[in-house]
Amino acid sequence: MSETRVTEAWQECGGDMPLDQFRAYGRQVVDWIADYLAHPERYPVLSQVRPGEIAAQLPGSPPGTPEQMDRILKDFDDIIVPGITHWNQPGFFAYFPSCASAPAILAEMLSAALNANAMLWRTSPAATELETVTLDWLRQMIGLPRSFEGVIYDTASTSSLVAIAAAREATGLSIREKGMSGRRDLPRLRLYCSEQAHSSIERDAIAVGIGQEGVRQIPVDAEFRMDVAALRAAIDEDTANGWRPFCVVATVGTTSTTSVDPVREIAAVCSERALWLHVDAAYAGVAAIVPEMRWLMEGVDEADSVVLNPHKWLFTPVDLSALFSRRLDAIGEAFSLVPEYLRTPESGTVRNYSEFGPQLGRRFRALKLWFVLRAYGRDGLATRLREHIRLAQDFASWIDADPSWERMAATPLATVCFRACPDGYDEPALEQLNQSILDTVNASSEAYLSHTRLHDKLTLRLSIGQIRTEEAHVRRAWELLQSAFHRYG
Ligand SMILES: *Cc1c(COP(=O)(O)O)cnc(C)c1O
Repeated sequence: MSETRVTEAWQECGGDMPLDQFRAYGRQVVDWIADYLAHPERYPVLSQVRPGEIAAQLPGSPPGTPEQMDRILKDFDDIIVPGITHWNQPGFFAYFPSCASAPAILAEMLSAALNANAMLWRTSPAATELETVTLDWLRQMIGLPRSFEGVIYDTASTSSLVAIAAAREATGLSIREKGMSGRRDLPRLRLYCSEQAHSSIERDAIAVGIGQEGVRQIPVDAEFRMDVAALRAAIDEDTANGWRPFCVVATVGTTSTTSVDPVREIAAVCSERALWLHVDAAYAGVAAIVPEMRWLMEGVDEADSVVLNPHKWLFTPVDLSALFSRRLDAIGEAFSLVPEYLRTPESGTVRNYSEFGPQLGRRFRALKLWFVLRAYGRDGLATRLREHIRLAQDFASWIDADPSWERMAATPLATVCFRACPDGYDEPALEQLNQSILDTVNASSEAYLSHTRLHDKLTLRLSIGQIRTEEAHVRRAWELLQSAFHRYG
């Protein structure tokens, strides 16, 4: 059937966009994307709109009749793009950068076109088998043992939720079956993580019924790493008081400072007490691809599960989080539920990934990771990650060399915590100064940094993870910081 005949017959009662139009707009969109990536200077990194400004430009009611694609694309440019904070720009240094590399963008287009729902093996065998193979490649690249198998979720928050639910199920308390509420036979469950753990851990505990009181935050040492003696003491104290410890979450690359918990020692505690050890390596895990950064995985081979996010520092657009576990069976036991209509002849011989989490429908995310791993290769990825680490170390050395600035934490990876600290300022004045510096740099359109609080001091954070970030961008950020400092300091 020719493209036009499809069009004529179907336009009467609806149908999709005519394919000749699709081709034309498709080319236009790809050109838009290439121009976008080529000219970061056209866009402020941090969107400069005020709250409500975008919504005010959109009609309050939906269109009743078809609108032309030209108009839709024009409004995309005029209304939507100004309200975008450009995570893809080389001046994005806030939070942990997340980056859409070109190969991954192409894969996302194809994934949208296929719209494969990877819920069962048969609902797209390639999506399932590619997920298995691609995650096994990633496992090898970061040096995890063969006993770890992977599943892709949307975010680390979900990956950790799944791990914590599996840990809860592994207590043998039949919570999956009987729930938690109204049960007199159930001890209160306790999960341990450090004070520097990501807030998603606490939220996951809320979601799986452990409650905020069920999360005990363990103090950290001077370098923001979990204090293992304090962990041991907390577990003993809780046990004596009738709590049931069930899970420890260690962090490799904490969100504020990228500190690395002593996983090997924590694993020893977990093995003594038969606790599930989950490692949150959402940001830092992928850095283990760099041979000299393999130390990051020290002890992780003893964990029950570990999460890392290719959608942070592995040039893969949101969303794609990888959970690896030595106990995929326990995850299945926590979630697997197969209604009649999902039973298939090949059940038992294939993996149906929807049995390993709360979601049935699943995007075909493995495709973009496959494109990224192939387009750059292990060595190409290691080279890029190593360069980001080098740039961050350079930036840290500029801070260290300038007496008006100070570093607020060690810099094991590509994220630097620092602040301005000129002589003669008390803490409230430093707070104000650093806030002004941050606001000024972020209003510059050229760079975007975020902050944290360390020892109750406002701390600026510069994190390098964009595939397009070069030394010049980092130098420019340093210039902007210094010029803001001279304006207020
Ligand atoms: C970013 C981050 C998370 C949350 O990741 P999402 O994928 O956004 O849920 C969790 N833990 C750590 C250590 C992180 O850096």
